[in-house]
Amino acid sequence: MSTFQAPKGTYDLTPPRSATFLAVREAIAAPLRDSGYGYIETPGFENVELFARGVGESTDIVTKEMYTLTTKGGDQLALRPEGTASVLRAALEANLHKAGNLPVKLWYSGSYYRYERPQAGRYRHFSQVGAEAIGTEDPVLDAELLILADQAYRSLGLRRFRILLNSLGDKECRPVYREALQTFLRDLDLDEETRRRIEINPLRVLDDKRADVQKQLTDAPKLRDHLCDACKAYHEEVRALLTTAGVAFEDDEKLVRGLDYYTRTTFEFVHDGLGAQSAVGGGGRYDGLSEMIGGPELPSVGWALGVDRTVLALEAEGIELDLPRTTSVYAVPLGEEARRVLFGVVTELRRAGIAADFAFGGRGLKGAMKSANRSGARYTLVAGERDLADGVVQLKDMESGEQGPVELAEVAAELTKRLG
Ligand code: AMP
Repeated sequence: MSTFQAPKGTYDLTPPRSATFLAVREAIAAPLRDSGYGYIETPGFENVELFARGVGESTDIVTKEMYTLTTKGGDQLALRPEGTASVLRAALEANLHKAGNLPVKLWYSGSYYRYERPQAGRYRHFSQVGAEAIGTEDPVLDAELLILADQAYRSLGLRRFRILLNSLGDKECRPVYREALQTFLRDLDLDEETRRRIEINPLRVLDDKRADVQKQLTDAPKLRDHLCDACKAYHEEVRALLTTAGVAFEDDEKLVRGLDYYTRTTFEFVHDGLGAQSAVGGGGRYDGLSEMIGGPELPSVGWALGVDRTVLALEAEGIELDLPRTTSVYAVPLGEEARRVLFGVVTELRRAGIAADFAFGGRGLKGAMKSANRSGARYTLVAGERDLADGVVQLKDMESGEQGPVELAEVAAELTKRLG
């Protein structure tokens, strides 16, 4: 193994591709910020307990994929595999729900860790931007979150994504369905592990990808037929609000998702250009999670969108984001005196808010101009001894190729004017 290799299942973000990642994070966050969501940041690790109780003892995430560690002080910690449990924990700890302003609307952006088998679009370290609306049961809130995610994807230019929507029922009707499903599943021809799953998390069996399992599931009882009237009405309302907003969705009664805490509204965003790892984001309502981690009753809803897969989706659709230039002005000094003077100009430009860079290392004109080109700068400033003697620098417009002298004292004002 080379010393310069990132750990298995991880990769580095380096320029220029890293700029796209930043822009994607920003594009997902923008509609949230404009809709009353406040930024929250929580630690990269939590007590193992939080995820065991919150995400669920029976989920793959907790049983197989969590990076756990024991600290030198004997604490059992886990690198966070997802965001919701941490955000809810932090909101409870800070008593945000008691400030008399429900729902508490929060957004976050960060790194998550799952010990999964790496493949295209599936990594052991990945990034999500997420949103949670805590403490209110209102179908308008579920619709708001779906609409904002749709808006974020559309603002990036994505078109080949679909929203899959389902309702998982609530604490009244879900247990009744669960039992009916268990009774049905126990009679099927299934392996030991799947049999165990029937007892702890039978809904997950519906998610089994194997054809021989799926074949036996054709006549499985459907959650839709077991939803109580309150859940049905709630779901119809969410659907109607989405339709009114012009957000297309597909009803998918097989959608159960890998986390235990979901109730009622559940959804996934899938992209059709990504192959096997097609889920770009997902979420839903988690009315019972607060109580599961020892808090009060706080019905909530949220989602997390994967940044890595969103970038892959952009690439699959051939979308190049219109990213702002990083450098507007590039300074090329010819000689010692020019280095000092032009570096002074660069500093002045930067203080005036103009993105400027400098040809470091005393290179010759040809090499320095190559760097100026690569930087994408709209303008270059070139100065040699003769220019300095005349009190000017040469300003070149890299798009038109036009070049002319500008008085040293006027450079910042001239560039501010030209760059608008
Ligand atoms: P989940 O928390 O499993 O619902 O995941 C939400 C989103 O995070 C998914 O739709 C993916 O975009 C992203 N995601 C989850 N796990 C991974 C992973 N191992 N690698 C890359 N992205 C992931």
